[in-house]
Amino acid sequence: MSNPIHDPLSKKLDDQSRIEVKNTTCYMCACRCGIRVTLRDGEVRYIQGNPDHPLNKGVICAKGSSGIMKQYSPARLTKPLLRKAGSDRGDNEFEEISWDKAFEIMEERLGDLRETDPKKFALFTGRDQMQALTGMFAKQFGTPNYAAHGGFCSVNMAAGMIYTIGGSFWEFGGPDLERAKLFVMIGTAEDHHSNPMKMALSKFKRQGGKFISINPVRTGYSAIADEWIPIKPGTDGALFLALTNEIIKQGLYDRDFLVNYSNAAELVNMDKESSEHGMFVRFEVPPEEGCFDPQNKLWWDRELNKPISTHTPGADPYFLGEFTLDDGTPVKPSFQLLVDRVKDYTAEWAASITGIPEDTIKRLAHEMGITARDEKIELPIPWTDTWGNEHESVTGNPVAFHAMRGLAAHSNGFQTIRAMSILMSILGTIDRPGG
Ligand code: SF4
Repeated sequence: MSNPIHDPLSKKLDDQSRIEVKNTTCYMCACRCGIRVTLRDGEVRYIQGNPDHPLNKGVICAKGSSGIMKQYSPARLTKPLLRKAGSDRGDNEFEEISWDKAFEIMEERLGDLRETDPKKFALFTGRDQMQALTGMFAKQFGTPNYAAHGGFCSVNMAAGMIYTIGGSFWEFGGPDLERAKLFVMIGTAEDHHSNPMKMALSKFKRQGGKFISINPVRTGYSAIADEWIPIKPGTDGALFLALTNEIIKQGLYDRDFLVNYSNAAELVNMDKESSEHGMFVRFEVPPEEGCFDPQNKLWWDRELNKPISTHTPGADPYFLGEFTLDDGTPVKPSFQLLVDRVKDYTAEWAASITGIPEDTIKRLAHEMGITARDEKIELPIPWTDTWGNEHESVTGNPVAFHAMRGLAAHSNGFQTIRAMSILMSILGTIDRPGG
């Protein structure tokens, strides 16, 4: 066994020792807490949280305070290692080589690949934050086979939410726990955003908020939750679909929010013979320069009982039903398609997949729905919406969500995130206070 690289007892503290404290940022996870590092004679001695940092306000986790090991761990690689001649992969037989030797080996092997088939070179980098450079290197080399840690982290979380609702809270957006009344955390361990999350949770609970943690494991978060709901790993999507179905059945979706800020009422072409089948029906408008998605879609108005341009002042669109345009095209509001899609995803169906009892799923849906509907909050902040309508105040449905890799790190992660985004949409909690 090799000797420790850093022996804390090797130098005695004396009058000549120079103590310094440096304010910096912890890099042990993506939370990026502010830390104070105490050095003696240029060597890290210990790490504390920085009470003046706006993010963590002095709170630090065990991983952060053990960041000293990143500098001095005896297990740290300090030289390139080459597998010993004659040993097999997995034998753990390596010898240290110089950087010159390492570059010589790489030059020979990469040179050969570049001349024959550059695609045989695969480059994988960790959380290096230099992906612009490493990606450029791979492209210049001639291989498309490069990746970084995001592919098995939670990039699909960002992609799924952007695809579905045009934006993502991903790992740092943060639920509005200042104003939420019900907080649902799903598939989250104490990783990203952890210190700010713990501080916010502490305050949230003191204010009387209800915290539900859905997780296969009774994590630290689950341990302090008002209710921990265990779930089979990788089945969160089934739960979201059943919750969506239940909330629709119980009539607890936020119709007003969906009309104004989603495509729920927009008509979709249902003619299977048409090349436009499954697309939103559009009417002709003069094209605006640079506009790739003109606002020329249709609602079916309840009062006039005919199609009408979306967001026509005073219009009141159908959410459910099937209609026929003047040219004979059958159409449905997209909300009707959602209802059709989730109708078989019952609580009973989800119970058999997730392991969560049917009654619990129904109760959860009801609790989310009535909290969103009956405990609305209103802030006296004037604003103008995307349609140019002016509002005196901002309203919110105080059901907040936070999710992480427990959802994302599965082959169905992207679709699971989409299902969660739809659930949040029908509850009307997106981009609103308390959500
Ligand atoms: S949560 Fe812990 S590991 Fe992550 S940045 Fe903060 S102190 Fe470091």
